[in-house]
Amino acid sequence: PSITRGVAVDIPKLSWDDIGGLKDLKKKLQQAVEWPIKHSAAFARLGISPVRGILLHGPPGCSKTTLAKAAAHAAQASFFSLSGAELYSMYVGEGEALLRNTFRRARLAAPSIIFFDEADVVAAKRGGSSRNSSAVGERLLSTLLTEMDGLEQANGILVLAATNRPHAIDAALMRPGRFDLVLYVPPPDMEARYEILRVHTRNMKIGGDVDLKRIAEDTELFTGAELEGLCWEAGIVALRENISATVVSDKHFETVKKSLKPALTRDEID
Ligand code: ATP
Repeated sequence: PSITRGVAVDIPKLSWDDIGGLKDLKKKLQQAVEWPIKHSAAFARLGISPVRGILLHGPPGCSKTTLAKAAAHAAQASFFSLSGAELYSMYVGEGEALLRNTFRRARLAAPSIIFFDEADVVAAKRGGSSRNSSAVGERLLSTLLTEMDGLEQANGILVLAATNRPHAIDAALMRPGRFDLVLYVPPPDMEARYEILRVHTRNMKIGGDVDLKRIAEDTELFTGAELEGLCWEAGIVALRENISATVVSDKHFETVKKSLKPALTRDEID
């Protein structure tokens, strides 16, 4: 099977402005990602070691991947993407090989960001009872630890891992020099929802009657992904009504909003 994961997608085109809300988080990532790459001499001068790994955790669809891509864009770093679930499901030895190979290629392409989605599948606590604490999981985890420790000598490589289950992550990964920074990526609040709606209607022709503020108020618990879907579907509803439509109006947004229910519940929010 062709493996598209672990492949560099060059420097992503996404910028910080494409992400609505999360102002403080963007600033923290900017410091942790951009500074060591852009000002590595300053770090060396002061004898400070840069962050090697960042763990992003929070509910699905709330921009962990998008943040990692924007960080890579801002730092002009090559972007490599790995999925814990995919590594886990590979034949014996293949997952470890792909991990090692990805780190090797990231070193060659530095500055690089390795984005590790569903990290908990690979980095699950050892000795636990979940399926992930199997021999496969342990070998993948120990390969990951070896590779991350190897980063000490390499410059300009950062691992960004994402998970919805931070408590499942093995403590060994949280030691200094590994995932030094742990950031919670929350579901968007009202202000953030408004900004996300603005981002995703930027290139749409929307009518003057569309009140994005009000839509933001009415979409509590919606994730960024769901808000993006809402905008897209409103456009489809407008076209379905009239294929020659020139604008997407408030009623189209209303129709879609009424039909959607957020997947998140209040209990799921950390
Ligand atoms: P998962 O845990 O399921 O991998 P995730 O947290 O990595 O989810 P993303 O893949 O980054 O979520 O987001 C899904 C989609 O939702 C993206 O394509 C993005 O366009 C949109 N999105 C999410 N959050 C935002 C945001 N804050 N601003 C703009 N778009 C967003």
